[in-house]
Amino acid sequence: MTPAELFRFCPRCAAPRPADNHAQSPLRCGGCGLVFFFNPTVAAAAFVHDPAGRILLIRREKEPAKGKLGVPGGFIDFGEAAEDGMRREVREEVGLELTDVRFLVSFPNSYFYREVTYPVVDLYFTATAVAPDRAQPLDAVVSVEWRLPAEVPPEEIAFPSMALALEKLKEKTG
Ligand SMILES: [Zn+2]
Repeated sequence: MTPAELFRFCPRCAAPRPADNHAQSPLRCGGCGLVFFFNPTVAAAAFVHDPAGRILLIRREKEPAKGKLGVPGGFIDFGEAAEDGMRREVREEVGLELTDVRFLVSFPNSYFYREVTYPVVDLYFTATAVAPDRAQPLDAVVSVEWRLPAEVPPEEIAFPSMALALEKLKEKTG
């Protein structure tokens, strides 16, 4: 179920949505005139490098994609720049500070959580770890590992958007 399908009543006046507006974006209320847009959520993640050119992978502790390999990142908060949200998530998940942050690529993604499929835009950055030896599994991370981009097992990658971003990274770094 998408967020647009989930809203069967106007969130302001509680009028039922007109039949021809069901599951549409924007929600158009016939009762109070509210027009409410459903937009993708923004997430930002980083391919964090060490001096040997390896990237930091995290083993996910929770669904979605529990047990699969991801890169540190997460959802951007209200009022937060994508770069800052990415740095915050990296700090929370693996305890690292970053330098040389650069935008790499973005892809659409879907995030399924408790019966709702949220549309997401995943922003991928590249960055260098200030002190790579300090990487440790923290929030929602089972373990961390450093691997060369070419040595990430495709079947273990958590999200399709990450697989596409990894291909882009490999193209760029040869
Ligand atoms: Zn209304």
